[in-house]
Amino acid sequence: MMTGMTNNPSATGFFGDFGGRFIPPELEAIMEEIKTEFHREIKDPEFLKELEFYQKNYIGRPSEFYCAKKLSEQLGGAKIYLKREDMNHTGSHKLNNVLGQALLAKRLGKKRIIAETGAGQHGVATATACALFDMECVVYMGEEDTRRQALNVFRMKLLGAKVVAVTSGTRTLKDAVDVALADLIANYKDTYYMLGSAVGPDPYPEMVRYFQSCIGKETKQQCLEAEGRLPDYVMACVGGGSNAIGMFAPFFYDESVKMIGIEPAGRGLDTQDHAATLTLGTPGILHGFKCKVIQDENGEPLPVYSVSAGLDYPGVGPEHCYYQAIGRAEYDSATDDEAINAFLTLSRVEGIIPAIESSHAVAGALKLAPTLDKDKIIVVCLSGRGDKDVAEIADILSRKGIE
Ligand SMILES: *Cc1c(COP(=O)(O)O)cnc(C)c1O
Repeated sequence: MMTGMTNNPSATGFFGDFGGRFIPPELEAIMEEIKTEFHREIKDPEFLKELEFYQKNYIGRPSEFYCAKKLSEQLGGAKIYLKREDMNHTGSHKLNNVLGQALLAKRLGKKRIIAETGAGQHGVATATACALFDMECVVYMGEEDTRRQALNVFRMKLLGAKVVAVTSGTRTLKDAVDVALADLIANYKDTYYMLGSAVGPDPYPEMVRYFQSCIGKETKQQCLEAEGRLPDYVMACVGGGSNAIGMFAPFFYDESVKMIGIEPAGRGLDTQDHAATLTLGTPGILHGFKCKVIQDENGEPLPVYSVSAGLDYPGVGPEHCYYQAIGRAEYDSATDDEAINAFLTLSRVEGIIPAIESSHAVAGALKLAPTLDKDKIIVVCLSGRGDKDVAEIADILSRKGIE
């Protein structure tokens, strides 16, 4: 990386060549309204006080910074720390972003919240915040995902949300986003769109990064306290890229800290069944912003696949595209099998059952740690817990004849 580089977006929301706003004219005004309000609120001590109150008392921040000693010893290389976002209320990093945006929506006077969800984690987090703040909640979810994550559908209903199964396209996350955007265009006057990752038109990527940056900021402080220095590597799984950017962005100017994002390689990068957008995608426009996209020659997004419902998105956050372009972060991938192996390993060795999404980041660390000296430090963002995945994993193992 060249010195003097910045990770602040341009006035029009570009991170280098990526990001921006490619939306129907009727959405321009609403995006501007959100952007103006966002920049006003994050300078308002009252807003920040309220945000901090809920982060601490409701989410349970700061999350633990745990040294996975047994795992590190077993691998015989670098020391591995886990940033325990799985310990947050609702079981993942998602609520960090949702609570921030919900407070913003409240200040904008919006009473109706809509959201898309893949694995159901963002839907559950949104339904949770809507219950807390007395807002109407509609969650769009691909029909295929409602099947894979039936328990999360029930959770959302318990919390008072309406869940709409989306039956168009591949019936997964991408289709849910399409339908949610159509709802927003029809109802934007009283409706706030709660976007679940660091994607979408400006100002969402910047906003989601802001609300997720608690991950990296805490990590920095906790690592300094535990080790007296910064980590050598920070790692995170990359779907849309929100947990990863929350971990990475606060380290942007600390050039000694290497950043590695792990994408879902599904059944392999040499098959069509993956969602490794940064690794194999090409620049394009998706859902109102410019990023790397898995697409055909006409710019139509192609079906993507991962064992994890939360990672199978054909695009990725613009800030990651920028970090990759300037060489500030590296992006590698892990296959379904590698992720499942990491899921089993962390459960067995540390007594922590990780989300199958987070297992991709763990898989990256399992590969990297043994190649490094014992005085190196790797921090893995454990973005969520695996309770939601145990049934699916049990299924997969029994199909493979493993007990
Ligand atoms: C949603 C989710 C992800 C993927 O989303 P990002 O925006 O890439 O962070 C990763 N891990 C968990 C546990 C999730 O719920």
